[in-house]
Amino acid sequence: MSDVRNVIIIGSGPAGYTAALYTARASLNPLVFEGSVTAGGALMNTTEVENFPGFRDGIVGPDLMDNMRAQAERFGAELVPDDVVAVDLTGDIKSVTDSSGAVHRAKTVIVTTGSQHRKLNLPNEDQLSGRGVSWCATCDGFFFREHDIAVIGGGDTAMEEATFLSRFAKSVKIVHRRDSLRASQAMQDRAFADPKISFVWDSEVAGIHGDGKLSGLTLRNTKTGETSELPVTGLFIAIGHDPRSELFKGVLDMDAEGYLTVQAPSTRTNIPGVFAAGDVVDHTYRQAITAAGTGCSAALDAEHYLAALA
Ligand code: FAD
Repeated sequence: MSDVRNVIIIGSGPAGYTAALYTARASLNPLVFEGSVTAGGALMNTTEVENFPGFRDGIVGPDLMDNMRAQAERFGAELVPDDVVAVDLTGDIKSVTDSSGAVHRAKTVIVTTGSQHRKLNLPNEDQLSGRGVSWCATCDGFFFREHDIAVIGGGDTAMEEATFLSRFAKSVKIVHRRDSLRASQAMQDRAFADPKISFVWDSEVAGIHGDGKLSGLTLRNTKTGETSELPVTGLFIAIGHDPRSELFKGVLDMDAEGYLTVQAPSTRTNIPGVFAAGDVVDHTYRQAITAAGTGCSAALDAEHYLAALA
């Protein structure tokens, strides 16, 4: 049993690093798989973060994540920039396999693999992320005072983003590929009643333009194929998120959309000794501070579980 760790953490965003910090400070010597592509999580792809408490003047996303990483490492968290490719979580001793095929064993596992926002998959989308293109009105709406904004999508999230943004924006255009919305009636009513919001029906984004900063979109009519230009300086893409829960299918309980389900307010999953936190659990809030908060809860839940084993 000498190779059996107390804690393995899968994922390295605010949830994973916070769980790592807490378990490291509790002398549980966590092993953290950070992922091979985006160690540091979603905030590695953004510029200014103004709503993470403690940074009065804001902080750029990668710096915030570097700080969290260094803080966890300072207390002895072992960080590995690799992916977990398989898990066996059912027994008292859990095992996870890394990309080289090496197997690592632990008494508890904390899952913080996050979620991925759906993209339009168009040229310029990534380059202009944080420079006019966004996936989160709560995060970035404040930067768009008096801007003309397009919101893409026809569901509840798109309506919610649009009505939130109309507080700041000069105008908000909801661009939707069909001629009716998927959103609930209440959300639709709110959007229709908002004088700053208008709709562009039967349309999809065919091009994103801007040199260092978003300047406009090319739209294509889905019925006629005709294209038109929409000059906007804000683009909010609200076409959904996919939780990164593929590894846990058939093992951990999840809802119809693939978000892991936990015994809230705890972070316990259906398997004793396995905890989940952050955006892989969270449909609703999807903020760095809420991910960090539940990462802390998962660490404390793991600590209590281990104490009860002793
Ligand atoms: P993530 O940050 O998504 O991290 C998950 C990590 O797990 C990733 O690094 C991933 O590579 C890794 N991983 C996944 N699977 C595996 C595996 N099998 N093995 C190993 N590692 C794995 N929130 C705010 O509060 N303020 C903001 O200003 C803000 N701006 C944002 C801007 C953008 C462009 C985006 C996309 C999001 C923004 N958010 C913001 C939201 C915030 O980034 C997320 O809510 C938060 O990062 C979620 O944290 P998390 O730890 O749950 O997951």
